[in-house]
Amino acid sequence: MMRTAMRSVLLLCIAAHKSATALTPGKVIVVGSHNQDLITSGARIPRPGETVLHDTFSQAFGGKGANQAVQAALLGAETHFVGKVGDDAYGAAALENLRDRGVIIDNVRTTITAPTGVAFVAVGAEDETNSIVVVPGANFELAPDDVDAAIFDGAGVLLCQLEIPQATTLRALEVAAAAGCVSVLNAAPVPPGGVDDALLRAASIVCPNEVELALLAGANEKATAATVAGAVCAAKDLQRRGAKCVLATLGGNGSLLVEGDLAIHVPVVAGVTPVDTTGAGDSFLGAFAAAKSAGLSTLAAVRAASVVAARSVQGRGAQPSYASAADLDLDAL
Ligand code: ADP
Repeated sequence: MMRTAMRSVLLLCIAAHKSATALTPGKVIVVGSHNQDLITSGARIPRPGETVLHDTFSQAFGGKGANQAVQAALLGAETHFVGKVGDDAYGAAALENLRDRGVIIDNVRTTITAPTGVAFVAVGAEDETNSIVVVPGANFELAPDDVDAAIFDGAGVLLCQLEIPQATTLRALEVAAAAGCVSVLNAAPVPPGGVDDALLRAASIVCPNEVELALLAGANEKATAATVAGAVCAAKDLQRRGAKCVLATLGGNGSLLVEGDLAIHVPVVAGVTPVDTTGAGDSFLGAFAAAKSAGLSTLAAVRAASVVAARSVQGRGAQPSYASAADLDLDAL
């Protein structure tokens, strides 16, 4: 699709006010991962050492960075992706997909020393279990020096996650701060060794989902992060660690914005029957970045993101379920 068509005016309905606002998203930088998802589905997943036969196999473009970039671009933001893929067929397909979805890939590098990131997903239908093995490959070769400060010129929002080295994410956050750009750290996934406080301090907004919020919070909050009140306590823990603003997504419980002493709960769009919530958080964050880059307040951008993410849970898969600006009939939601 042509970039000019992608930069269409985004019509966002701020659900709580039942009014429509015409917005033009600005420039969004996404520094993060791309993975090729290889998905099998069968009765159950294998036990250690066991071989099972599965019924279906499919592939999908994934990785939190790529998903979020695609959602922001579909909503009309001038979206630049900074990432790394291997010199292989999956890498070539990734570049083609990103380009087709309107993402600018001038800052995606190809490495010959690691394969494109892959995620092996096995789904067991009988007991609704799954097992996922991720090989980050090229994603873990994305180095701080790959973050070119020049592309932040005129950027409104940086989106980054934790599927690349933390040092690279930290560099991106620092460059964004120097450029006067709002930075959004999706604290996902939480690495086994935890998240360096320097990242929480450097980001304008820290965004975990409820599982990540519990992991990041102190032991006392782990039991209660599943409720909105518990999530508020856990978010305050992140504030004590240096986060300026916490925006937590809580699945079917909506999202929670905690800034200073203020905590605002934004419920999900009512009347939605979810089909598949895969990638809902990435849709939410890509849309949040697009809305924020258009100049919306943080709360208004959260409400807009809730509308877009509600759309994504009504379709299967991650990127295939993401709406473009033209698809959104937000008043109907
Ligand atoms: P993640 O994919 O990171 O776990 P969540 O599951 O928290 O993300 O979902 C992200 C956002 O998607 C939520 O904050 C909410 O706005 C929206 N969402 C999730 N589930 C539903 C649902 N059942 N109905 C409507 N919106 C939903």
